[in-house]
Amino acid sequence: MTIIDGRQIAADIRQELKTEVEHILKAGGRPPCLAVVIVGHNPASETYVRNKIKACQQVGFRAKKISFEADVKQEEVIKAIEQLNEDSSVDGFIVQLPLPEHLNETHIMQAINYKKDVDGLHPMNVGKTALGMPSVVSATPKGIRELLSRYNIQTEGKSVVIIGRSNIVGKPMAMLLMQKPYLSLPKMASQTLGDATVTLCHSKTRNLRQICLGADIIIVAAGQPNLLKQDMVKEGAVVIDVGINRIEDNSQEKGYRLVGDVDFENVAPKCSYITPVPGGVGPMTIASLLQNTMQVYKTNNRI
Ligand code: NAD
Repeated sequence: MTIIDGRQIAADIRQELKTEVEHILKAGGRPPCLAVVIVGHNPASETYVRNKIKACQQVGFRAKKISFEADVKQEEVIKAIEQLNEDSSVDGFIVQLPLPEHLNETHIMQAINYKKDVDGLHPMNVGKTALGMPSVVSATPKGIRELLSRYNIQTEGKSVVIIGRSNIVGKPMAMLLMQKPYLSLPKMASQTLGDATVTLCHSKTRNLRQICLGADIIIVAAGQPNLLKQDMVKEGAVVIDVGINRIEDNSQEKGYRLVGDVDFENVAPKCSYITPVPGGVGPMTIASLLQNTMQVYKTNNRI
């Protein structure tokens, strides 16, 4: 059994990007720039934004943060987005989710110029991904694709079960893995990924255990600790755990610890490969955001 080291792969990606930025600067170019819009003071969102900006700085990207108070009017957020759409010094930007209830997330996300949508959540990018066209792919499924690729885990002809149908993980993951390998993928990934037989499960799925038992690869993104148990996994399966759940734990300084959706201790011995939580998929999400920023920088500047 191999534990997939997302921290190491993410560090490798950051190093690759850093080298690429150095080449750009040597050639007289400017570094890529990511902007992050954050509304309110949700502690988890503030941490994510801080980490994203830090990651940008580590690889030599510029980063901008645009903050609004939680009671900001929708028009003000849209106005900031329109300015970012026009700002040629900003290559890509994201609006950190979730947004406060009074804001219309769909309208706000659609106001983003899809060419600068580095979260890959704009309908244009989602549609292109579904059609197998070159697109910006949502960061978490992109990161999972990268993990599979860098561990040389083949998906062709494999039975893949995805648990969770969210727009940011489950659905795009299913689209990527069911595709014919297509031209927009990096060469290495296109050789190994796609061409899988995908089953997408969710909270109304019956016989989840039976479905999972038939899977070569199981990707769990449900937000339910211990959802995937030992008796749901066949010997030699690959298990990718996307879940991030806080479990009360008074032995920890913070009073909680993070666990995934997989009963890791009992499932891991049956697997050929498995991702831990933390240190598996999580670190890949920010690395993919950086890759997406580099991708739009190059596309929009025709590099
Ligand atoms: P979500 O929270 O929006 O939805 C959960 C999905 O799981 C739904 O589609 C639901 O139908 C399904 N589900 C819930 N309980 C189920 C059950 N018992 N059986 C089968 N399906 C069930 O999904 P999300 O936003 O993709 O988040 C899922 C988890 O992944 C969360 O823990 C989230 O924190 C985590 N996450 C992690 C990263 C990362 O970078 N590692 C990124 C995004 C999300």
